[in-house]
Amino acid sequence: MDVADIPGVPEWLPDYLREDGIEQLYPPQTEAVERGVTEGENLVAAVPTASGKTLIAALAMLASVKRGGKALYIVPLRALASEKEDEFAEFEAYGLDVGVSTGNYESDGGWLADKDIVVATSEKVDSLVRNDAPWLDDLSCVVADEVHLVDDDERGPTLEVTLAKLRSLNPHLQLVALSATIGNADELAEWLDAALVDTDWRPIELRKGVHYGDAAHLEDGNQQPVPVRSNEDQPAAIVRDTLADDGSTLVFVNSRRNAEAAARRLATTTDEFLTGEEEDRLADIADRIRDVSDTDTSEDLAEAVERGAAFHHAGLTRQHRTLVEEAFRDRLLKVVSATPTLAAGVNTPSRRVVVRDWRRYDGSVGGMQPLSVLEVHQMMGRAGRPGRDPYGEAFLLAKSHDELDELFERYVWAEPEPVRSKLAAEPALRTHILATVSSGFARSREGLLEFLEGTLYAEQTTARDRLETVTDEVIDYLEMNDFLERDGETLEATGIGHTVSRLYLDPMSAAEILDGLRDAQHPTALGLYHLVSRTPDMYELYLRSGDEEEYTMAAYERESELLGRAPSEFEERFEDWLSALKTAKLLEDWASETDEERLTDRYDVGPGDIRGKVDTAQWLLGAAESLSSERNLGVGNAVREARMRVEHGVRSELVDLAGVRSVGRKRARRLYAAGIETRAQLREADKSVVLAALRGRQKTAETVLENAGHPEPSMSTVEAADLSDQPGSGANGTTAADRATTTETEDTDTEDQSSLGDF
Ligand code: ADP
Repeated sequence: MDVADIPGVPEWLPDYLREDGIEQLYPPQTEAVERGVTEGENLVAAVPTASGKTLIAALAMLASVKRGGKALYIVPLRALASEKEDEFAEFEAYGLDVGVSTGNYESDGGWLADKDIVVATSEKVDSLVRNDAPWLDDLSCVVADEVHLVDDDERGPTLEVTLAKLRSLNPHLQLVALSATIGNADELAEWLDAALVDTDWRPIELRKGVHYGDAAHLEDGNQQPVPVRSNEDQPAAIVRDTLADDGSTLVFVNSRRNAEAAARRLATTTDEFLTGEEEDRLADIADRIRDVSDTDTSEDLAEAVERGAAFHHAGLTRQHRTLVEEAFRDRLLKVVSATPTLAAGVNTPSRRVVVRDWRRYDGSVGGMQPLSVLEVHQMMGRAGRPGRDPYGEAFLLAKSHDELDELFERYVWAEPEPVRSKLAAEPALRTHILATVSSGFARSREGLLEFLEGTLYAEQTTARDRLETVTDEVIDYLEMNDFLERDGETLEATGIGHTVSRLYLDPMSAAEILDGLRDAQHPTALGLYHLVSRTPDMYELYLRSGDEEEYTMAAYERESELLGRAPSEFEERFEDWLSALKTAKLLEDWASETDEERLTDRYDVGPGDIRGKVDTAQWLLGAAESLSSERNLGVGNAVREARMRVEHGVRSELVDLAGVRSVGRKRARRLYAAGIETRAQLREADKSVVLAALRGRQKTAETVLENAGHPEPSMSTVEAADLSDQPGSGANGTTAADRATTTETEDTDTEDQSSLGDF
């Protein structure tokens, strides 16, 4: 279909698309239009990766907005929210307003009411529903990206329930669900009362195969020589072979460590192929990577990038990931070794894809498990750049003839699995049943069951009994914990139940927190960090070998600080208790101004992990504060201080100063050492002292004073004071803690105040 012939879309759209090199719709897009996607019809589009699904969604949203409506685009990962926002922000030139909603779970996102297109994660949308955001009633079109993730144990149920709620809020809503090619797209379509576009079509041919010995064995029966030299492994041989033809390669591996190690190894292959100009540009990018954070991970990444290779995983900061993705798209990086995060929607096509590891460690079974066909096909689907490559190639790797046969059977010739609802799992139902009652979607057991009838789970299960049984169990649990009240047939959330739902807590987390706080007299920061770390809402750190002993010792040493009843060593929950303690110690160290690099070393995590833990702790402690005040537990101040310490990464005495914007932990510590201890003192301080404490940087000093509310922040005539005889400024007057932090944190001109970067 010519772009001029699409019905229902804004007049400017054809020209806009042509500018992007799009003259004709791809066949699946045409089919979607023919099925009425621009005229308000529900649609499920099950189309391979990188085959133009986003445009199908954009057409639906633009047409809906043109009819006076408002569109919501639901992404599965936060990382994708900004990528999609950037993409849709281009419509702002034509008068549309686009916004992204990540941020706090508790607000109703009132400012989004004026947007035409909103991008958000399903968790965020769920929380908007719980907080009764009035603008949700105005939605006319909702897009669910990667809807096959309803199959995901962790996040699937939220997506499923959210879609059901949005539909029940607004029965005329248009739903557009985008999916990878799966075994049962027809079931999804039936669930959503939608037309179906289900196709294998790709804009560029994909040749799948398995590399074994000295050749790639392709699915059409042909073989293509890709010899492996004695000093290299299979991935290196494929990367070299691809580079000889000026192409790039994506290598998927099963862990962060493996991604890092592979990049290091593959860099020895890629650096021989770099031109002088490429080397200069890569050196530049490496410097920008080092500027993002001063950790080993950052340094390792920079060193690989200088040589034309990189790794990509969720332990990297968002800036790191963006730099890598851009350099790969610009063809400066010749290979990226990645965990599957990169296969999940980030647009990084590559001539060749290597799926190096097809098994992955799975904690729930305590061993290696094969990846699903769907996952492997999504990785393979990243091969081939439309308009650049004649075709894409994707290889698995076999070490033996048997494995070669097995991989063909298991993946190359296999159809992707059907997706199955995971809603019947208890933690999911616990959260969603409370929310459904609390926000008034259902007011009785029957009402609940009726609502649940609108889910994929109900569509897929024939055993209605099962749904009834778990629902009853969950209602009992919620009633026992005083989150729900039953009055005859009627179900109602209690005050605390409402709070829990609004705070977006798993009821079990809330119960654990309430229980821990109940008898706490003077909780310490560590005690509180431990309490929130053992809730199901915090992903704990794994215990590695040796950890068990270390943290068992720590558990005894600090027993008096830990809240609630401690398990004995023989109880099953002892191990959880210890991993929560490991997480708590990380948080405590962070809130004691320990440097980020030390933390990544000591706890064996990436900088992105620290950020994740800090964010989650901040949110859970905020929730604990609300619960404490709701129940008059009298520990609100202690919780608040622990929260602010973790938020800014500082000891107690710096909380006030570090709360001033652009001050941050390192500058706060230096101001404090110069005798300026509070925000109020900062407003009245001798400017020359402030300037000296901020290392003579005028601009910084002015910004800091301005943010502190100083009436006259200008530094133009100020000379930095000599602080050498000030108490606390030199080695003589400092406390041991000060010395530890100042020596650890020798800062540079571009110091990153939080050390965690902006994610
Ligand atoms: P998906 O969402 O299916 O993974 P995308 O929507 O990201 O894939 O599309 C991949 C690429 O194809 C994008 O760069 C997009 O601009 C381009 N594209 C989409 N539709 C067309 C078309 N009809 N003609 C040419 N290029 C297109």
